[in-house]
Amino acid sequence: MTRKGILFVISGPSGVGKGTICKRLLAKMPDVYLSISATTRPPRSGELHGRDYYFLSRADFEHMINNNEFLEYAKVYNNYYGTPAAFVQDHLEKGNDVLLEIDIQGAMQIKKNFPEGVFIFIQPPSVDDLESRLNLRGKDSPESIQKRLSTCKWEMDQYIHYDYVIVNDDLQEAVRLLEAIILAERCRVK
Ligand code: 5GP
Repeated sequence: MTRKGILFVISGPSGVGKGTICKRLLAKMPDVYLSISATTRPPRSGELHGRDYYFLSRADFEHMINNNEFLEYAKVYNNYYGTPAAFVQDHLEKGNDVLLEIDIQGAMQIKKNFPEGVFIFIQPPSVDDLESRLNLRGKDSPESIQKRLSTCKWEMDQYIHYDYVIVNDDLQEAVRLLEAIILAERCRVK
C-alpha cells in the first residue's frame, strides 16, 4: 500500500526548545525529513546556509513570495521566515514524512491550507522557564528577550488549536513523546 507522507508541524513560543527537540528526534528517526526554512535574519555564529536556514536578502525573499514559492511565511520579530513549498510537496508526494519547525502564525496558515497535517505544540513549563532559556542561550539582546517574553503569554494560550501538546520540562521525555506521536500517526487508519 503506498501512502502519502504525513506533515508534522512543530510549533510553540520562541525559545521553548523546539529546535533542540527536532534535532534529537531527527537523529533517532532519519526517515523523517526536516524542511529547511528561508529567512531574512542574519546567520548567528555557527549557522550554515542550507543547513540551518536559507539566508536570503529581503529582495530575494519578496521575490519568492510573489512567485508563490512558500507554503507559508510570517514576519517574526522584524524578519521574514518561510517554508519553501517545493521540498515539502515533493517529499509528501513520495510518501516521506516531513517535519516543519515554525512559529505559531505560520502553523495557523498551514492549518488553514493543509488541515490534514498533524499539529504539535511545544509548551514551556512556565513563562519564568522560558525567560531563563532565552537568557541562557545568550543569542539574543536584552531588548529582543523582552519583546519575545511580552508575546509569550498570548503564545502559550494557542495550544488549543493543536492536535497534541508536549510540555518541555525534560528534553529526553519531550523527544520520546514526539517520537510516540509520529509512530502513532503512521498507524492511523485514515
Ligand atoms: P530563530 O530566529 O530563533 O531561528 O527563529 C525565530 C522563530 O521563527 C522561531 O519560533 C522559529 O520556529 C520560527 N521559524 C523558523 N522557520 C520558520 C518558517 O519557515 N516559518 C515560520 N512561520 N516561522 C519560522
